[in-house]
Amino acid sequence: MRLDKFLCQSTVLDRPTAHECIISERVKVGRAVITLADTQVHPEEKVYLDDVLLKLRPFRYFLIHKPAQTVCSNKDEHYPSVFTSVGLEAENLHIVGRLDADTTGLVLATDDGQWSFLIMHPDYKCPKTYRVQLQKPIDAVAIEKLEKGIQLQGEKQATAPAKVEIIHEKEVLLTITEGKFHQVKRMFAAVKNKVVQLHRERIGPVELDIAEGDYRALTAAEVRLLV
Ligand code: URA
Repeated sequence: MRLDKFLCQSTVLDRPTAHECIISERVKVGRAVITLADTQVHPEEKVYLDDVLLKLRPFRYFLIHKPAQTVCSNKDEHYPSVFTSVGLEAENLHIVGRLDADTTGLVLATDDGQWSFLIMHPDYKCPKTYRVQLQKPIDAVAIEKLEKGIQLQGEKQATAPAKVEIIHEKEVLLTITEGKFHQVKRMFAAVKNKVVQLHRERIGPVELDIAEGDYRALTAAEVRLLV
């Protein structure tokens, strides 16, 4: 991992302050002073700040049931952050695959960038399931298009094949393996329908099992099974 990341994960420093410390020759790896923030260090290496040995904090992983009218960023002009709304200290956490302000349901939060990359990158095909309420009844042609992959405006490639499960004529479960901007709303707009309510129920093997506005730590097994 990068040296600046090691510092952030073993102290209360944020990235810019960690950089400052490194540049000002306060950080040693073994006996050597290192002044480049992107130097790769092994988690087992002895890293010192002002000659104090640092110890890596374990990564943190959470499942949050996001309420509507909250945002997945730390700050916003219009809506409260989902972290504040559920009472979780954001610190270095980020949301894995953001939901729109009006979307409810399952979000994952972590400080482990590599883990979130594996969940979100389309190449790893981690399925995300949404319960979608529609303005108009869905028909067979639309289902076929959505399942096959559909060309969205402004995108180079069609969406990857999706799975559609009909609950009622105006309610479906849609499972996709990508996370393009407003993807679900744009997919239904592309088949001349409109999403009136959107709720994420599942990511990979992890299902939403807590009340709206709550959060819990993921189990070690869930963390492993997600990637
Ligand atoms: N797709 C959307 O359109 N919105 C979301 O919040 C998530 C997926």
